[in-house]
Amino acid sequence: MNVLNYIDGEMRAAQAGAVLDNVNPATGAVYGQIPDSDAADVAMAYEAAAAAFPSWSVTPAEERFKILNAIAEGIDGLRDALALAESNDQGKPLWLAKNEMIRAAQNFRFFATAAMQFSSESHAMEDKAINYTLRTPLGVVGCISPWNLPLYLFSWKIAPALAAGNCVVAKPSEFTPVTAAMLGEICNAAGLPKGVLNIVQGLGGKVGQAIVEHPNIKAISFTGGTVTGKHIVGVAGPMFKKVSLELGGKNPNIIFADADLDKAVKTTVNSSFMNQGEICLCGSRVFVQRAVYDQVKSALVEAVKAMKVGDPLHAETRVGAIVSKPHYEKVLGYIELAKAEGAAVLCGGGALYPEGFEGGYFIAPTILEGLNWDARCNMEEIFGPVITLTPFDTVEEVLAMANATEYGLAATVWTQDLTRAHKVAAQLQMGIVWINCWLLRDLRTPFGGVKGSGVGREGGWEAMKFFTEVKNVCIAL
Ligand code: NDP
Repeated sequence: MNVLNYIDGEMRAAQAGAVLDNVNPATGAVYGQIPDSDAADVAMAYEAAAAAFPSWSVTPAEERFKILNAIAEGIDGLRDALALAESNDQGKPLWLAKNEMIRAAQNFRFFATAAMQFSSESHAMEDKAINYTLRTPLGVVGCISPWNLPLYLFSWKIAPALAAGNCVVAKPSEFTPVTAAMLGEICNAAGLPKGVLNIVQGLGGKVGQAIVEHPNIKAISFTGGTVTGKHIVGVAGPMFKKVSLELGGKNPNIIFADADLDKAVKTTVNSSFMNQGEICLCGSRVFVQRAVYDQVKSALVEAVKAMKVGDPLHAETRVGAIVSKPHYEKVLGYIELAKAEGAAVLCGGGALYPEGFEGGYFIAPTILEGLNWDARCNMEEIFGPVITLTPFDTVEEVLAMANATEYGLAATVWTQDLTRAHKVAAQLQMGIVWINCWLLRDLRTPFGGVKGSGVGREGGWEAMKFFTEVKNVCIAL
């Protein structure tokens, strides 16, 4: 399927006419082309957005609410087609893609409501003065998102930006362009005025870079790798742009001996291997208290060996294809590194070639044990179906290991001891801690990480605040 840019409400090829191949990772075959856009296309998108801003920024909240809701309905109406496109682009199981489309629609619905609820603040100074704090849209903002949860994360940025009255120049990952292009059509059908949202397809180093460098794009909301995040700060920082970064993770999953072990194991299989482990929130380092280590290990290995890997469109598939050849090679490289670092492979441990999909990028879900807590495979983000198992004895010991990486995105803790749960949650250097659950999301809560996992928070008012500028007005009484 070929896609085009969505600029000023129209589908357009890159001005230079260049294209990139789009590959289905389950087969390794090229199945479409996308515009290989450049700075000229970003400039055109900016012009369209800037022209739309004066009107969109004063469009009544109720009207924005209606349009964002209509976009949500458009996503719901095309759910099956979007999910199929996403599965073909990314390699994820179709059933999972269908679930993610529900969330993509929910993102628009949630921020439609936020547009209606968002308000300025007022601070009274007794009888001296009254302050009111205006929150106004920034102007044209840039949204750049990755390939792992394509429309889910794209909409998570675009919806609050639009709800707050901004116009947007957005770039999806070049590996997963199709649902973003379909979103353009959905926005037109929903009555979004032309130019309010513009989607430029192509490479990060060209399109993403041009968005970040553009002198009049006021803010950058970015989700992606930590290295790219550092680069973006380097460019956007001296221009004093607002930047929100959601970056990588190396998340610990801590199972205490008193936990509900059946539930912990069942959820750990999901939290480690959902979407081939290509979710920033996946728990990739599983720490198990020594008294139950062998029990948890054998239950995990049994459950993981039973997972069906292969055709993403098959209803029983649990693990699909890795998104791209370079990423597949990177993940396999980490498995080899782990072996060289002395890991024992409890299951998986290499590539798979499912029948009929021999050209695809499949990796067997892999559990490793016996690595030092500070081995590279325990410190660096692998972002694939690979986890390490490590025993621990005390709370202090597991906290030290859990907090030892450069990342600080999310942690999962399994215990029935409420006091310990609170204490451990307080001491984990993470932006998000789940106790006895994983990926349970309330869209009002602040979402994001600390340390190398990012700067700023998304979700609820955090996102609305990011996408607005504040001005305090003080009136003497
Ligand atoms: P990348 O950082 O490679 O890319 C993310 C996006 O940035 C892509 O659209 C990419 O384009 C673009 N990009 C690349 N270079 C530049 C540049 N110089 N300027 C501007 N944009 C650029 O990440 P991945 O796509 O590989 O995504 C995986 C990463 O995302 C993982 O590290 C994961 O942990 C993280 N992530 C974090 C989440 C969070 O909420 N904290 C959620 C999901 C993922 P292109 O694809 O063309 O290279």
